[in-house]
Amino acid sequence: MIGDFKRFDMARKPKPQKRYLTPVTWIISFPTKLVRHSKVSKHGMDGIKPPYLLLCNHNAFLDFMVMTTAIFPHRANYVVAIDGFVGMEWLLRSVGGIGIRKFTNSIQLVKNMVHIKEKGQIIVLFPEARYSLCGTNAVLPDSIGKFIHLLNIPVVTLIMHGHHLVNPFWGPKRRGVGTLRADMSLLFTAEETQTLSVNDMNARVRETFVYDDFKWQRDNNISIKSGHRAQGLHKVLYQCPHCGAEYRMTSALDELWCEECGKHWKMTEFGELVAADGETEFSHIPDWYEWERENVRREIEAGTYSLNVTASVDSLPNAKGFVTLGQAELTHNMDGFTLTGFYKGVRYEETWKPLALYSCHIEYDYKTRGGDCIDLNTLADTLYIYPQGRDFSVTKIALATEELYNAAATKTKRNALSEEK
Ligand SMILES: [Zn+2]
Repeated sequence: MIGDFKRFDMARKPKPQKRYLTPVTWIISFPTKLVRHSKVSKHGMDGIKPPYLLLCNHNAFLDFMVMTTAIFPHRANYVVAIDGFVGMEWLLRSVGGIGIRKFTNSIQLVKNMVHIKEKGQIIVLFPEARYSLCGTNAVLPDSIGKFIHLLNIPVVTLIMHGHHLVNPFWGPKRRGVGTLRADMSLLFTAEETQTLSVNDMNARVRETFVYDDFKWQRDNNISIKSGHRAQGLHKVLYQCPHCGAEYRMTSALDELWCEECGKHWKMTEFGELVAADGETEFSHIPDWYEWERENVRREIEAGTYSLNVTASVDSLPNAKGFVTLGQAELTHNMDGFTLTGFYKGVRYEETWKPLALYSCHIEYDYKTRGGDCIDLNTLADTLYIYPQGRDFSVTKIALATEELYNAAATKTKRNALSEEK
């Protein structure tokens, strides 16, 4: 625990959304739904009433609006990160927020979800726990199946299509997309949550959560005319597939290029990339991203993955606001993350081993400092870490976090199996 601050009280019981706020959420959400031409199709939802668990995919703030209209006329409680409500804890609690710190295992969250179920409310969970980086599904934790079994209520999924195209995580500006679609489906009845195995339920949730907004764009022939449609894309596509250089990609308007070798790509109005000269290595953006992941995986398999940077750090001990901790040193390597620094003359060191984080939350050009950052949490602290210089990519750090976890988890499983023999 860094510093002597009052911490966000995770043990305080969440309450159902205040009744007077529910119409306010409708006033905000329905016009947005109309403007964005969002259509929600419901499958197997006849007779499904609260309480139920609603699992949604996560691409943009727009998700909240579409979700609010999908559950109409009911209200809900949402599992939300306290970082989303800086300076507004009262709002977090009044709208029915269940505050958490991202990618932490809190027994308190389970208790709070059970409490809300007993109040007969819908529990909304965005199990990817962060916005999708390039319009495809993010990794899901194994704990979901356990939650589902424990809650013993119906499980519904809401998979929204096109929200990444409207407001990509990497793009500073919104764009028009025409009609958006969403599918709201009953995934498990309450009875099934008790008869199916946790593994089977995890597998079915993962199957339902497979999505790809760029494929959806291509399949539906959706044209995005915006002249700045590629602006920011280099935040995700940080490695050049032509010369292999990392951290030298940049973008503006509808173009993406490598400052090292000079190769340019244009993004068509249908979301595909085309090289200005020569071979187009990847026309489909998620394929480029997965190629980067493979390269990171190779470094991890070879045991050579290593990053060491000076960073400035902000902490969010409670929802009141960020506290500047100052400069620190961040190391990310085969042993996971280590953050060391001094706050008010007292040295601190926080570590996150590979198995402790199956993924991590990152931000591009985050509003408080305007830089890219990694968000690492303990049960008491939410740390926004801004590496300095240009020889890093928070996207690569996020990919490495996932691949380090996978490698460590595979090794643990293998060891367990060989012990059994
Ligand atoms: Zn290059």
